[in-house]
Amino acid sequence: MSAYNDGPLHKGLRNQLVNQLREKGITDEKVLQAILAVPRHYFFDSAFERIAYEDRAFPIAAGQTISQPYTVAYQTQLLQVTKSSKVLEIGTGSGYQCTILAEMGARVFTIERQKILFDQLQQSFPFKKQYPGTKFFYGDGFEGLPTFAPFDRVIITAAAPFTPPKLIDQMRPGAMMVIPRDEGESQRMLRITKQADGSVTEESFDLFSFVPMLSGKNR
Ligand code: SAH
Repeated sequence: MSAYNDGPLHKGLRNQLVNQLREKGITDEKVLQAILAVPRHYFFDSAFERIAYEDRAFPIAAGQTISQPYTVAYQTQLLQVTKSSKVLEIGTGSGYQCTILAEMGARVFTIERQKILFDQLQQSFPFKKQYPGTKFFYGDGFEGLPTFAPFDRVIITAAAPFTPPKLIDQMRPGAMMVIPRDEGESQRMLRITKQADGSVTEESFDLFSFVPMLSGKNR
């Protein structure tokens, strides 16, 4: 991890990144402001500081990746969080996506199945003081967090082979889930809304490429 130093150079790079995201079609100002505010280089080794502000995915520990900024912005825009949203994230990874949600005022419960990634964040999440409402869990995202349900929003940041039924159960009526669901080689981004009668509706968006959502935990 970098020594946590956020200077004018970093802010300039973030500004450029936000401009690129606008050009690529991200329009939600609250999402763009959060990306402008959160030092993404804190999630990288100091040798890769500049890469942190390129619009691309990057390897992290345990063979996983930190999602591309465009993907984070896209999913966050679809999620429509408000200051009072209680959000369940599947796939903590680097912790960047959950920090963006926390910056937007959401209360985030995030699950990671790779012990090494969970331990890293549990020990040295750079924003512990800033976002004390962010809670990290080591577990299997297919199970969700029944103890903390119901959630207003669910965001899955790995390629889901199907819509996990337990996560639908843990959604409040009116709640939304953003899920990249497998469609052969790539994943279709979907937004699933739970209706008052418990049924769901699906809206369909672009194709993406995520690391797989796997069941069970990895030590
Ligand atoms: N949101 C992350 C993206 C990480 S990539 C970020 O901002 O960096 C996807 C992550 O999902 C990986 O860390 C992977 O280990 C995790 N994952 C895959 N299947 C999972 C499951 N069933 N439960 C919890 N996490 C899972």
